[in-house]
Amino acid sequence: MASVSRRKFLRGFGAGALGLTALAAVPALAEEGPGGPGGGASVALYTAGTYTGVGTGINGDVTVTMTFTDNDITEVTINADSETPEIGGAAAKELVEQIFTAQGADIDGVAGATITSEAVKEAAAKCISAAMGVAYTPAGANTPDPVQQTNAAGETVYYSMRRNWVGEAPEIAEADIAGEYSADVIVIGANYSGAPCFRMACEKGDTCIVIDTQAEDGFNSYGGELGHFNSTWQEEVLGVPKDTFDPTDFIDSWQLQSAGRAQPDLLRKFAQRNGEIVDWMFEVYDDIHNVGSVCTIDQAENKYDYHKGHFMTYPATATLGSDNMSSSGDWCRAQVKKGLEASPDSQAFYEMTAKVLIKNGDTVCGVIARSEKDGLFYRFMSRKGVVLATGDFSANSDMYSALCTEVQECNPYTKLTGSGRNGYGTRMGIWAGGVMEIGPRAAMGGATSALPMGFFGAAGGLWLNKYGKRYCNEAFGVPFVAGCQSARQPIGSGIVQVWDNGHWREFAQNQPTGHFNAADISDTKMDDYAAKLAEAYAAGPEGANGVYAADDLETLASYLGYEGEAAENFVKSVQTYDAYAEAGKDPDYAKSADMMFRINEPPFYGEKNTRNANIVLVTLAGLFVDGDGKVLDQNFEPIPGLYAVGNASGGRFPLQYTSPMNGISIGMATVLGALTGEYIGTEGPVVSSGDSATSALGTV
Ligand SMILES: Cc1cc2nc3c(=O)[nH]c(=O)nc-3n(C[C@H](O)[C@H](O)[C@H](O)COP(=O)(O)OP(=O)(O)OC[C@H]3O[C@@H](n4cnc5c(N)ncnc54)[C@H](O)[C@@H]3O)c2cc1C
Repeated sequence: MASVSRRKFLRGFGAGALGLTALAAVPALAEEGPGGPGGGASVALYTAGTYTGVGTGINGDVTVTMTFTDNDITEVTINADSETPEIGGAAAKELVEQIFTAQGADIDGVAGATITSEAVKEAAAKCISAAMGVAYTPAGANTPDPVQQTNAAGETVYYSMRRNWVGEAPEIAEADIAGEYSADVIVIGANYSGAPCFRMACEKGDTCIVIDTQAEDGFNSYGGELGHFNSTWQEEVLGVPKDTFDPTDFIDSWQLQSAGRAQPDLLRKFAQRNGEIVDWMFEVYDDIHNVGSVCTIDQAENKYDYHKGHFMTYPATATLGSDNMSSSGDWCRAQVKKGLEASPDSQAFYEMTAKVLIKNGDTVCGVIARSEKDGLFYRFMSRKGVVLATGDFSANSDMYSALCTEVQECNPYTKLTGSGRNGYGTRMGIWAGGVMEIGPRAAMGGATSALPMGFFGAAGGLWLNKYGKRYCNEAFGVPFVAGCQSARQPIGSGIVQVWDNGHWREFAQNQPTGHFNAADISDTKMDDYAAKLAEAYAAGPEGANGVYAADDLETLASYLGYEGEAAENFVKSVQTYDAYAEAGKDPDYAKSADMMFRINEPPFYGEKNTRNANIVLVTLAGLFVDGDGKVLDQNFEPIPGLYAVGNASGGRFPLQYTSPMNGISIGMATVLGALTGEYIGTEGPVVSSGDSATSALGTV
């Protein structure tokens, strides 16, 4: 811990002492302070006391504690114990002196310890803001994020989105590099997209290195449902013949749901080869017959029609943590192990965090990473390419808010956050010259709130808003697409779904097998539903299991909280919908006849769901890539040697989480990850020597 305390100050109060951010926040005080127009009037700048602020260092939190008198900083203590002792830790003493001398947070920092310096500046600025009684504003936040900027080539570029999240690439001094490795391909991220990419490139004859910040023991992968179609597993385990689905149907339907914005070649490759690649990935199982499925639809009895209106829906979703795989993390590790078996010169480094890509001119030729084991930096040089497989950015609120504009606009009172990764890998791609995919940029929900967690799962029955009125085609593709209209209903209001006693089985058994679907349509499940509905009926106005039941629509309306005109609308809306279902035509919103079920036999049932807003697992937008996974630059040209896969890449979910099957996000991450590995391993050009000594290196 570094600390300085002085009773006599080196400098008096002035613009240089406070720093620009602080001054801008309190213009009146700046004018009236000591020596100002007030002629020596004693106006306190600070509320005397001791304040603590926290900044984000290279390994975790850096804490700064500062003591203030009315106008001066009298003591500064920095706790940078979490930082690398030789770098951040040693810099702490110098940083204390700088803050003290500057009497503010606007300091130069220490060369070679950029991240620690920034963390200290952030923490000190927070202390100063607290002492001044003003809200802390991050550095640069007072400067409008310019829509017009100059790019690396000196050209003027106009941006439509805020870009403060981009930040600056860290500079890592040559002296800090403890070791160097080289390979044909470096994959950053050993999870769903990175592990199959690594394995495939290894099997195609390349030597590869994969690094991941996580430890190998307990390696964690999110979720574990993998959606695909036309695999041997699907045929042998689910009983759905291998060529049941025509890939062109999938492409057509996906592009309709994406308004033509999906990257066409990524889509084509997935559609044509996903079954085959899944079979290849499933070689890690002892017996594919023991691989679980989330879908219990009885294919043999052919109870289920895959066609839902204009769209197809696919029942082939496997659960990865089954058979001999104890978890989906194990499944990813098993892909890496297979790669290592095929290519003994290849290597996997866990607990290794990528910090900055290395460029030689326009070409990406490596990455500098920091070992979580020894705290040292290592250089990994690539001959063919570096693959960013670093996942999404939902844990980075600034990035999420700036990029996923539709999600933010649908949730104006919410600080966006998801359960995924921090977006650092995507930022590395931007620092290296990449650009984000063209918007709007999707997350898994957020802009498409619907009824995903209702009684029957994501069911598109009759949906009514707070006014008791129907407002959209509930079955348009999948509920998540129709859910766009739910996200446009009044904030804080509920959305009601209604069904009846005569038709609920048919309704429950004919929903698309999309995300949060009602995939279990077995007789046992139907019996379970029936028992729960009986409980709801018996509970009267209290309802049970989230469901209310009544013998007439007026009573049900009152149980659901409708009053006056809204209650009248409710009854009319149900009757109108029933008439449309009976006629097999929906003149209002064009819902397919095969997705409309009558509501005319009591008891009637209703559930009330809140307009779910920011329930987001991951963001799904990424770097702008071509059909091989090559990252494109500002001119939409490939950056030699740089690839992105999985949620670090764009082009798959351009509008929203289009989901014709459960688990399509892991399905696309794994299959397209493997296919980018195949491209690099077979056709990918050699772009660099793989040796830092013979390259004119420049880090970005
Ligand atoms: C709780 C949860 C459940 C989910 N369930 C499902 C589901 O069942 N089905 C489905 O389709 N989708 C599901 N999803 C979404 C799905 O998990 C993601 O879309 C998928 O993980 C994307 O794979 P990826 O390889 O792109 O990224 P990730 O799986 O996030 O992998 C990124 C990897 O990169 C590593 N990494 C990141 N930065 C660095 C760095 N700087 N240096 C080194 N390594 C780094 C991380 O440690 C991680 O291992 C779920 C998401 C969540 C949060």
